[in-house]
Amino acid sequence: MHRVLLYLCLVLVAGCTGNSGQIDRGDYLADTTVSSRSQDERIRFLVMHYTAADDNESLRLLTQGQVSAHYLVHTSPEIIRGKPVASQLVAEEKRAWHGGESHWQGRDNLNDTSLGIEIVNPGFSQGVKGKHWYPFKEDQIELVARLARDIIHRYGISPANVLAHSDIAPLRKSDPGPLFPWQLLAQRGIGAWPDRASVDKYLAGRAFGTPASVANIQRTLARYGYRIPQNGLADEETLRTISAFQMHFRPTDFSGTPDAQTEAIAMALVEKYRS
Ligand SMILES: [Zn+2]
Repeated sequence: MHRVLLYLCLVLVAGCTGNSGQIDRGDYLADTTVSSRSQDERIRFLVMHYTAADDNESLRLLTQGQVSAHYLVHTSPEIIRGKPVASQLVAEEKRAWHGGESHWQGRDNLNDTSLGIEIVNPGFSQGVKGKHWYPFKEDQIELVARLARDIIHRYGISPANVLAHSDIAPLRKSDPGPLFPWQLLAQRGIGAWPDRASVDKYLAGRAFGTPASVANIQRTLARYGYRIPQNGLADEETLRTISAFQMHFRPTDFSGTPDAQTEAIAMALVEKYRS
């Protein structure tokens, strides 16, 4: 039986010889029989967001407004045949308008080279004691993990290129915020996380809050991927970028203070992913 099938397949293939690699595009043919070995993926980054709106408003904004994303994860993702459903709003080969003006690893305008996942979440509310952040639902994170793992695998995206919107636009954005579970996702093979032993090594016995060299933090964060001034000054732009970094890798304190623990985490990340 298998032999018969194989024979039939061979006959079919043989029947197409001469034009199997040619695509008719109307006024001309494209011959694709020979392809170059020098090529790679256009998609290099995966960017996480929260929508700061409810389900209906998120869908309206991302489909009718001036912004969009490849995927939208609803508050309570629908389950079909035992699998959670993500809304795909933009085809992966198309650009979605989710990053805005953005920078990472010397590249600008990450819409060109990234996929974006928006997660329905209110973001934060401003109270008398400061900002109150809203946690993500477990079901949402489970779907984000499945979606991200698949995308990372298909495009070969490196861990340090799985990013928060706040990483690539730290002066404008704070999503997906300090409650996004980066460490949990890293344990499932999604995104970067420093090794504890390495952080301890760079901490070198200093207390976490010990003031650290602003110049070294600037240099290290730039090497990791952030666009940050290289002037040795704790200026507004520097502090906000440090805060974005902390929101991702030290969410218990993202005040922007250039302290020893921040420096040690940054150096451990560079050692692990950029050396
Ligand atoms: Zn965003």
